[in-house]
Amino acid sequence: MVRTRFAPSPTGSLHVGNARIAVLNWLFARKHGGAFILRIEDTDRERTVPGSEVSILEDLRWLGLDWDEGPGVEGPAGEGPHAPYRQSERGAIYRDHARKLVDAGLAYPCYCTPEEIEAAREAAIAQGERPQYTGACLRLTRDQIARYEREGRRPALRFRTPSEGKIVVHDVVRGEVTFDAAEVGDFILLRSDGMPTYNFAVVVDDALMEITHVIRGVGHLSNTPRQVLLYEALGYTPPVFVHAPTVLGPDRQKLSKRHGAKALADYRREGYHPDAVVNYLSLLGWSSPSGDEFLVRERLITEISLERIRATDVVFDPEKLRWLSFKHIERMSTKELADAVDSFIDRERYPISQEALPIVVEAVRSHLSCFSEINDHLEPFVPTLDEAGMARRDALRADAAAQAVLRAVRDRLASLPEWEDATIDAAVREAGAGVGARGRALFEPLRIALTGEEHGPPLSKVAAVLGRAAVLDLLDAAIAPEAAA
Ligand code: GLU
Repeated sequence: MVRTRFAPSPTGSLHVGNARIAVLNWLFARKHGGAFILRIEDTDRERTVPGSEVSILEDLRWLGLDWDEGPGVEGPAGEGPHAPYRQSERGAIYRDHARKLVDAGLAYPCYCTPEEIEAAREAAIAQGERPQYTGACLRLTRDQIARYEREGRRPALRFRTPSEGKIVVHDVVRGEVTFDAAEVGDFILLRSDGMPTYNFAVVVDDALMEITHVIRGVGHLSNTPRQVLLYEALGYTPPVFVHAPTVLGPDRQKLSKRHGAKALADYRREGYHPDAVVNYLSLLGWSSPSGDEFLVRERLITEISLERIRATDVVFDPEKLRWLSFKHIERMSTKELADAVDSFIDRERYPISQEALPIVVEAVRSHLSCFSEINDHLEPFVPTLDEAGMARRDALRADAAAQAVLRAVRDRLASLPEWEDATIDAAVREAGAGVGARGRALFEPLRIALTGEEHGPPLSKVAAVLGRAAVLDLLDAAIAPEAAA
């Protein structure tokens, strides 16, 4: 049974880089009918940002990445069989594991203060040596311990790393990656306040939560030898490690806001199609064997494979994300798209009714790369002309051919039994035929009369949305009065 996890630290909201890790883990679990687990790694209290857990959960829900265990799950077993899923609530479990390591002689208390460690680090760097723990507390006597305790020092707990030998990490993407144990050095498991470090908590949790595949960013590859040592020391089997490549901005610098890599919540607010975001994020490090880039969720689940995750850096391309959003929007039914854009419409400026919405959506849908862009196309559906529009309309009054069209269409529309897109369209063409006008000669004067513009969405749809009374008023305003006499 495949079990993957997404283990964000609640230090802010999700962004492109970490959301892509969630996507890969979710796709892989779903492909294999396995479980996707959400775990909150909140042991670093200073970096924890209030509210970020809530926003991470919201972002995952928006992306449609449902999780089977973890915060927010309300199953028969509560959050799941391995609850709690917040590291801050698992202190007793880490202490228990720490005790086992101490008893086995694999960990020892370290009384060095942060200042002492920093001073030793600087001294090592100054001498051109590797800045690594000196082992000052490795063999403390009882007396020394008693003295430190009297001074009021609280010990951290350090893992005793073998002083020589190789540590081999098996990574699906990079093959065997070998580290020198001597380079790893003794590292902290529990801080002096009793909180576990990332490397310790992650191993204990991944082991107890029976995670089979750890898919994460390559930034964590350098942590993995420590984790491999801990699996061994605790008698657990390591999972399969998969380190996805780093995401860079278009200038090949580490991705940042300046590259248009916004928080995921920004894409949500702009109304990118969530399937497009999942699609795009999956391509940050993985590719379909078909070479296709526009991939619906079901296809992503079928096609995902760890072997196709590449090792080399990937470049974030906001334009491709936009294009994919356009493609995913193109697939939506009118009803789905109307529902999706509804909450994005600036109704103070564009009071589009619920009945009119599907007609508007039909008329403008081919222009949308994200839902909020609907507002860029709604002006024609509001019966107010700007100054330039009024000038264009007034010019129609001196145009005999245009006047003939406007009059014929006005008469025909005034008596139209049903006010509907299709019937309006037929009536306009018929009236036009009556005065020998079609194509541009027919539609341009009408469009100017209704919207003030020469170009725009299909005229019959605009008229259907404006309503008969408004359309007749607008036509009357474009018809020269004295010519009637
Ligand atoms: N909390 C870690 C992070 O957000 C998780 C790393 C891991 O997946 O092991 O980077």
